[in-house]
Amino acid sequence: MNSPLATVSKILTWSCVDGPGNRLVIFLQGCNFACPSCHNPHTIGVCNHCGDCIPACPTDALSLVDGLIVFDADACNSCDACLRACPISASPMTHVYTVEDILALVRSNRIFLNGITVSGGEATLQLKFIIALFSAIKQDPELAGLTCFIDSNGHLGELAWQRVLPVTDGVMLDIKAFDNGTHMALTGRCNRRSLASARSLHAHGKLFELRYLMIPSRTDTDLELDQLAEFASSLDRSLRVRLNAFQHHGVRGEAREWEKMSRAGVEMAAERLRAAGLANVVTPSVWI
Ligand code: SF4
Ligand code: SF4
Repeated sequence: MNSPLATVSKILTWSCVDGPGNRLVIFLQGCNFACPSCHNPHTIGVCNHCGDCIPACPTDALSLVDGLIVFDADACNSCDACLRACPISASPMTHVYTVEDILALVRSNRIFLNGITVSGGEATLQLKFIIALFSAIKQDPELAGLTCFIDSNGHLGELAWQRVLPVTDGVMLDIKAFDNGTHMALTGRCNRRSLASARSLHAHGKLFELRYLMIPSRTDTDLELDQLAEFASSLDRSLRVRLNAFQHHGVRGEAREWEKMSRAGVEMAAERLRAAGLANVVTPSVWI
């Protein structure tokens, strides 16, 4: 059987905000949500090799060869003009990796790492690769001590979770909104599957953290926060709940006009959740 390949937007060999400890993070390309608030919108689409971004490149780093886009990293000046030109929020600068490629990277950074995290985009769209990678790590005596985490929007179905959970140590799961109309407006999808995933992951002991993006006038309302408190409490009052703050970095279109979330607003929300009984509410440690 052929080893699955991953289309990767970016790899960080060191991160302390994508799960517990120091982690190697693989950002997989492609997402099934279309959030105006996305800070990395060029990770949403998957390149169809249309070539529309080629004329935008000032350094001739892009070309079409046999109908496929080819990226010359040595010629690139990182101006991101190609990302702005892409009509489907994709990137011509992705790389394809094998499981062995990633294992080699993990081995060379092993001494610094507590684990690895797959993020996105929506990582679970490349589930076969995740299962193959996590399985290989668990079977490798040199790497077996590393924990394997997934950062997800939770839209994955129950049967698919059952395939990946045996080799997964934890999941950071985003809930974008509790009101379904708000969730639809913010993501293009309903929230039923994300809420079901949170319940199921918690029941299997794999829900490491619930994440919630606070956007003024959209998801920072008392009603939304009370629903967040009620939902998290129904799972476990000591569940780790991370509040994130909407900012303008990277966002496009209408979201550029949205108000940014203030530090004071996030702290007030955290206090409201703690007063409602949640014991492990985390707020951003860094503000840009
Ligand atoms: S970021 Fe894109 S447009 Fe800019 S130089 Fe690199 S390939 Fe060309
Ligand atoms: S990155 Fe976008 S514009 Fe460029 S070839 Fe791919 S789909 Fe077309």
